[in-house]
Amino acid sequence: MKQDYYEILGVTKTATKQEIKKAYRKKAIKYHPDKNPDDKTAEEKFKLAAEAYEILSDENKKARYDQYGHAAFEGPQGGAGGGFGGMNMEDIFSQFGDIFGGGGFGGFGGGRSRQARVKGSNLRIRLKLTLEDILNGVEKKVKVKRLIKAAGATYKTCSTCNGQGQVMRVTNTILGRMQTQATCPTCKGAGKSIDHRPKSSDANGMVQEHEMVSIDIPAGVTDGVQLKVSGKGNDAPGNGIPGDLLVVIQEEPHDKLKREGVNLHYDLYLSVPEAILGVSKTIDTLKGKVKIAMEAGTQSGKILRLRGKGLPSLDRYGNGDLLIHINVWTPKKISKSQKKIFQEMLEDENFKPVPDKTEKSFFEKVKDMFS
Ligand SMILES: [Zn+2]
Repeated sequence: MKQDYYEILGVTKTATKQEIKKAYRKKAIKYHPDKNPDDKTAEEKFKLAAEAYEILSDENKKARYDQYGHAAFEGPQGGAGGGFGGMNMEDIFSQFGDIFGGGGFGGFGGGRSRQARVKGSNLRIRLKLTLEDILNGVEKKVKVKRLIKAAGATYKTCSTCNGQGQVMRVTNTILGRMQTQATCPTCKGAGKSIDHRPKSSDANGMVQEHEMVSIDIPAGVTDGVQLKVSGKGNDAPGNGIPGDLLVVIQEEPHDKLKREGVNLHYDLYLSVPEAILGVSKTIDTLKGKVKIAMEAGTQSGKILRLRGKGLPSLDRYGNGDLLIHINVWTPKKISKSQKKIFQEMLEDENFKPVPDKTEKSFFEKVKDMFS
């Protein structure tokens, strides 16, 4: 059983953003690897605290966690998609700039100084998906143009900062000499500079290359959702780590079905005789063909609900429904003889509208659907 995120940080469910940040800062300092060398328990607690903070500091993730607990982040693949597969040390330290203010990480521990590693820039793509893709989830392969280290590019320790990525600037002021730390202007913080630059590579020894990246799309994604594929953004020169590939989902409209959250809507048209006599119709749903029988005297505006024939929800709690809206199609053009038949029916008692008191009106039905 995984420990509760609130318990890990030692805060209550009503804690504010600031309180959560403060609690995390305390835990991060207490269990920091520099303070607890070779202590596996401390390292585990350090990681758990970072994970708890990652979730509780994000409004959306916190809301999902409050509603579904840890299950909210157990995605199908654990990686891309809604899944949350724990954090590695790189992620945790990159989060620290925000926590301790100013990108620098030092101040405590004092012992070994951590080599700053530069992260490559993120790439962002749009990915079109059909409702069929969204129904079951899908693996898509996309061609991505990434910056990668050129073959044969070698790097040496940056001579400006001696590999520290940071330089001390000394300025003379009226108060005396002041020392400030700044990102190295030569290597931009990487600690390395290009040694051998192959032809056709840029100043950092990087080249653009097409790469096929496979993306696992979980079932139930919605338009505008952004998935992250870690490490598939641009690479960073030297010993840097690659950025991420951000995938924005774009839902393609379906020609027959309209999506509304997890529910799908379908307009079914009946002819006047079909509505009067009753009829069987076969409907193409996302889950195959479904035959539905309509009784004699089917009213226009009737809504049939096919349970579970909608889309799954992203958090995998249940399935939506398919709602079939019955419309009776009234022809504009009819023949003379048909006109005669209908004229005969004008005064016929059977054709006088007598709305059933117990039958719900169109508006009541719509109200029911959303309640
Ligand atoms: Zn440097």
